[in-house]
Amino acid sequence: MTRHSSGALPRCYGGDTVTMMGDRFRILATDKLAEEGLAYLRAQPDADLDEKLNLSEEQLANILGEYDGIIVRSGVQVSEAVLSNPGRLRAVARAGVGVDNIDLDAATAAGVLVMNSAESSTITTAEHAFALLLALARNIGPAYRTMAEGGWDRDRFQGRQLAGKTLGVVGFGRIGQTVAQRALAFDMKVIAYDPFINAETMLDGRVKMYRQFVEILPHADALTFHVPLNDQTRHMLGTAEFSDHVKPGVLVVNAARGGVVDEQALRTALDNGVCAGAALDVFEQEPWQDPAGLRQHPNVLTTPHLGASTIEAQEAVSIDAAVALLEYLRGEGVRGAVNVGGLRLDLDPLQARYADLAQRIAMLVSPMTAKGIREVTIELAGAALASAAATIERMALIGLMQPHLDTTLNLVNVCHVAKQRGINLSTTTKEEEKMVGSQIALAVRCTDRTHRIVGRVYSDMRPRVVEINGYRMDMIPAGHMVLIRNDDKPGIIGIVGAEFGSAKVNIADMAISRRNHSALMLLRVDDVPPADLDQKLVRHPGILKVARVKLPDEMP
Ligand code: NAD
Repeated sequence: MTRHSSGALPRCYGGDTVTMMGDRFRILATDKLAEEGLAYLRAQPDADLDEKLNLSEEQLANILGEYDGIIVRSGVQVSEAVLSNPGRLRAVARAGVGVDNIDLDAATAAGVLVMNSAESSTITTAEHAFALLLALARNIGPAYRTMAEGGWDRDRFQGRQLAGKTLGVVGFGRIGQTVAQRALAFDMKVIAYDPFINAETMLDGRVKMYRQFVEILPHADALTFHVPLNDQTRHMLGTAEFSDHVKPGVLVVNAARGGVVDEQALRTALDNGVCAGAALDVFEQEPWQDPAGLRQHPNVLTTPHLGASTIEAQEAVSIDAAVALLEYLRGEGVRGAVNVGGLRLDLDPLQARYADLAQRIAMLVSPMTAKGIREVTIELAGAALASAAATIERMALIGLMQPHLDTTLNLVNVCHVAKQRGINLSTTTKEEEKMVGSQIALAVRCTDRTHRIVGRVYSDMRPRVVEINGYRMDMIPAGHMVLIRNDDKPGIIGIVGAEFGSAKVNIADMAISRRNHSALMLLRVDDVPPADLDQKLVRHPGILKVARVKLPDEMP
């Protein structure tokens, strides 16, 4: 058996088409960028900058191949058609975060790196969250409103001091940690909850980490949320948390994503005094429809998604995009890559299928790891996979961790991110299993238990998941998947079929596996199941858990 560290990547990851010294890089800016980034590019001895704004898709498609790199915001569509003739284009840099206007698959297929500048808004957003907390504690919003209307009321707006109070930071990634540093500077006590950080304390022992969300709630005078929105974090602060766990009079700040705090539950908690005030920068729908009637509430302070809106952040994204683009073109490194997987890999077809399968089975197991990942072990059977072990393990880690992070993970950064979070990783390779040939087994040790999932690529070169937590099955992991754990008793399959039927969701494939009086169903469905279907299913006695995952379509 050979043990691999998370060692060097295959040589192709450094960028295999570095332009020869002496060449000049042709850069196109297609959107209005802050002047700082443009000035940086103009000052470079090896770069020529063109600015062409308001291009149609067709116009962009016609000229794109003449450039080594383009910098975009959200004003142009870098579609499949635009990328169909990439010419000398090697990278698209998005000055900002969202890459919805860039067809990542088409860029990947064309070998074009897409990068964003997500880091640039960290400080700006953290400052906004902290500003909201200060304003909330000192009633700045309502006091200003009264003054603007001609009033002078000093008693009503007596505030609270932050020093000495405890701030609970939920989600301890880039923004959460930056908020914590500011709170510490204000002499607050800071505690945090983040199940994907395996540490007792953070920030040199100054921040105690909690293992359970509900454990942090009774200690926090104020809560601030910095998590991505996903199935685990949607409404994570809701009716049960307000009524059973929070410290009465808590202040709540949400500058992460609308939907993390349940607006209806917040309204009730504000009305009955459990929550003394809430500051929201993000909303369940934007622009805000305000279904819970929070807009006029005296203890609610709102801003229209201004977290990242500062002059400095706009300058920073422009400079970051320009610097990252040139660094990549010069072969000096890759930063902020969104599709590093798109760089050509030196994998043979079987290895490529296993790398893809690793990510799929990891995505399938990911919803079961919501309580926090401690250790990831990957066993590869088959000598043919050994030389691709580093890539396969990274693909598995991306599949496992990406649903829980807003940080874009890729083959270059994923091991570093896992290490920073104290998640141990080991990969072993061994000879082929006698009966089955090559195989990948992924074991994920979480705070509560270890999950194990096994996959194989059959001779038809199609991926299969063959085991989940001891339940044996044979299913192609692709598209919309639903996992259901249930008691092994008659009638359950009928109930599941009926619920999907009445939701008008067609079941394309179904695997049922039983073990020790319980069973696991894995379903592949044709459409996105409606949001309330999971709840409807678990209301049936005998249906214990439901999780859903959207996997990529099968590789062609
Ligand atoms: P990040 O990926 O660096 O951090 C997110 C953290 O949340 C990670 O550490 C992750 O482990 C943690 N997490 C995931 N699931 C969790 C759970 N169930 N419970 C607790 N923690 C969990 O992302 P970031 O850059 O710090 O961004 C944080 C949030 O802020 C994101 O939702 C992002 O979209 C949002 N954001 C908002 C604005 C704005 O304008 N208001 C601007 C930028 C970012």
